Amino acid sequence: MENQTVRFEDLGLSETTLAAVKKMGFEAPSPIQAAFVPLALSGKDVIGQARTGSGKTAAFVLPILERVDAEKGYPQALVLTPTRELSQQIAEEASRLSLKHPLRSVCCVGGRNIRPQITDLKKGAQLVIGTPGRVIDLMQRGEFDTSRLKMVVLDEADRMLDIGFRPDIERILRKCPTERQTLLLSATLPAPVARLAQKYMNDPERVDVSHIGANSQNSITQFYVPVDQDRKFRTLIRVLSQEKPQQVLVFTRTKRGAEEVYRKFSGRLPRIGFIHGDLSQNLREGVLSRFRDGRLRLLIATDVMGRGIDISGISHIVNYDVPMDCDDYVHRIGRTGRLSSTEKIGSAITFVTREEGDQLTNIEIRVNKELARYEIRDFETQRPRRPARHVNDPA
Ligand code: AMP
Repeated sequence: MENQTVRFEDLGLSETTLAAVKKMGFEAPSPIQAAFVPLALSGKDVIGQARTGSGKTAAFVLPILERVDAEKGYPQALVLTPTRELSQQIAEEASRLSLKHPLRSVCCVGGRNIRPQITDLKKGAQLVIGTPGRVIDLMQRGEFDTSRLKMVVLDEADRMLDIGFRPDIERILRKCPTERQTLLLSATLPAPVARLAQKYMNDPERVDVSHIGANSQNSITQFYVPVDQDRKFRTLIRVLSQEKPQQVLVFTRTKRGAEEVYRKFSGRLPRIGFIHGDLSQNLREGVLSRFRDGRLRLLIATDVMGRGIDISGISHIVNYDVPMDCDDYVHRIGRTGRLSSTEKIGSAITFVTREEGDQLTNIEIRVNKELARYEIRDFETQRPRRPARHVNDPA
């Protein structure tokens, strides 16, 4: 959903960048782009609260294109992300947006041969996109010179802190020039992110569009299903046959859980896969690319892996396990109803056991909306609370 009043021409972008944006087929800036780009172009530090799927990659890549000097062959902008997949996705979006710019970028993530990354750095890449571990490795080898960085972007900052990157991020930031511009993007702004921002940013402006846009929760229909743990799988089968989703992402809380659900499916339904952090990088990429091009219709994922997946065909999210915290819920359901999807609407269906009532309430408070109960025809998702008494049972 485009921002009705603002045009890309109003954001202060150069003709070259405007042409690239047009070529991408973007008609109007999304709310985060409209709010974030002019501030970022002014050189200020900015905190943007927006989810993936709201166009936030372009919100920071466009200012990078404008502020980096492509004549100078050394790193001037660094983008840090929590997952390799997200780095890869940003690198692809950056390369599409920089079609008309002489900018060179390099994607520095682990699980891949470091040599080509070093070669690209030596060739004078100006934009470095990567995960903290590999970025530190390259710094320690003396291959990545951070001393002339003008811009540092922390994408999905809340998740980076969640999965224990804080010492790494601080280590990297300490090596960056203090007069740099720092941009921080986060779907939520919990206390640790706010503290990081305070410590490493200079009087940041804050833009919060997490409540509006195409990817707002309004474009997603949200349901819950009260379910017994041992009926979850059968419930999932029922939901799938009732919904007939175009593509569905099923979230489990644990890696083992993801594999278990996958195993239960085997032989029952084709075109199913799973993804979690213990799979090799190659396997992860293979699964994602098969999901992206539609060869897989159902993907079972854990939170970290499911995050940042920008796939337009996802019509349904099923929370097979209720997420541990409400921020995870927001991230999970953000995988559907995305800006890039043709339908721009989606459904999120959350399985909740009797013991998890409080979690459901917390989610409802977080999204400020009461979730509707999902009805399944001719199937009991829960056993009755007391065993049914037979007529002949003694009283
Ligand atoms: P992101 O939130 O950056 O992951 O972007 C989600 C998707 O929306 C990507 O496929 C982008 O190419 C696309 N996108 C970004 N900005 C716009 C826009 N202004 N209009 C239409 N699509 C966009």
